[in-house]
Amino acid sequence: MIKVTLKPRREDSLLRFHPWVFSGAIARIDGNPAEGDLVAVHSADGGFLAWGHYQIGSIAVRILSFDENPPEAGFWEEMLRRAYRMRVACGLEKEGWSNCYRLVHGEGDGLPGLIVDYYDGVCVLQSHSVGMFRAKGEICEALRKIYGPALKAVYDKSSGTAPFKAGLELVDGYLWKAYGFSDDEQQVLEGGCRFLVNWTEGQKTGFFLDQRDNRAAVGRLAKGRNVLNLFCYTGGFSVYALKGGAVHVDSVDSSRKAMDMVERNIGLNGFDASSHEGFCADAIEFLRDVPEGKYDLMIVDPPAFAKHRGALKNALRAYQRLNAAAISKVAPGGFVFTFSCSQVVDKEAFALAVFSAAAQCGRSVRILDRMNQPCDHPVNIYHPEGEYLKGLLLYVE
Ligand code: SAH
Repeated sequence: MIKVTLKPRREDSLLRFHPWVFSGAIARIDGNPAEGDLVAVHSADGGFLAWGHYQIGSIAVRILSFDENPPEAGFWEEMLRRAYRMRVACGLEKEGWSNCYRLVHGEGDGLPGLIVDYYDGVCVLQSHSVGMFRAKGEICEALRKIYGPALKAVYDKSSGTAPFKAGLELVDGYLWKAYGFSDDEQQVLEGGCRFLVNWTEGQKTGFFLDQRDNRAAVGRLAKGRNVLNLFCYTGGFSVYALKGGAVHVDSVDSSRKAMDMVERNIGLNGFDASSHEGFCADAIEFLRDVPEGKYDLMIVDPPAFAKHRGALKNALRAYQRLNAAAISKVAPGGFVFTFSCSQVVDKEAFALAVFSAAAQCGRSVRILDRMNQPCDHPVNIYHPEGEYLKGLLLYVE
């Protein structure tokens, strides 16, 4: 057993169940751990604290268990089953309505470094730590037990996310496939809407499951509106808007592949091609040329502008500029759904950027709602850093 001993008084965060040990908190390591090895963490006075995956870097140990007994063979199945039970309890497996969700959201499900997205029988794994990357075989076995015959495939898409230092061979591919299953793409149901998900070609695991509730909110307010969906990816918000009775939807994304999927998703849901137009363009440039008052519902869901703290200031300026452009163009009495998925930009900072944008435009702007990530992207109460998606619903006159 490899034992990691902390410096004096550095055990407090673990006693509060925070799931990370920073390298600066470590006094010594007994043994010579390889990256991804299971290690036991002890306080300076020798008391047991937790078990976790070791890794070279600023976060040196990601905690898997606070139980004194080491995680055993049944650990993965138990943890994944708990995650599954919660999604079912939230109504995310409902025939004719929903068959896709995030099954594992890292720390939010007690499994730091692991993402598993479920697309009607296909599980797509992304490991963000060496430990999870090395455990993928066991994770795959546990998924097979949990889903049984409903499981079609388990695909590992960690080449862009797992840290490379360990010298592991990182090639995306299927860990398991049901006999006869040969697709890299399939249709899923989200809130009664149909979407095509392609996990090999698409961004992240293929679909942005985190906007489910906010798409439904757009659907509820879309009736009779002219909608502009900026940074639309495969058109999630566009489909809900049309379903909600929008008169017309324009969707904009800079990715050609995403725009092709938007067209297919619009068709799949039975909407007339004349009710929708797709633009493969830079959203900011597109917005610059939008006539004032053309749209009375806008969705602004850009990629993360800040991926780390150092980029925070520039990101806040970018959010302000983008939101000012949207607020200045939306028709009087219009709605703007605006989002940020940058983890380092917290709710308050984002609201301040949007406030500055509104002030800059000099229009009357009211906040009607505050939006979040949905239940299948849970936040571990001891790890508030897990909160990343935030949005505001604005009413602009
Ligand atoms: N709203 C989407 C998710 C958006 S993810 C959904 O509900 O699924 C962010 C998207 O922004 C990606 O699809 C990416 O291709 C696109 N993007 C990034 N930079 C862009 C730019 N400058 N102009 C337009 N789209 C951009």
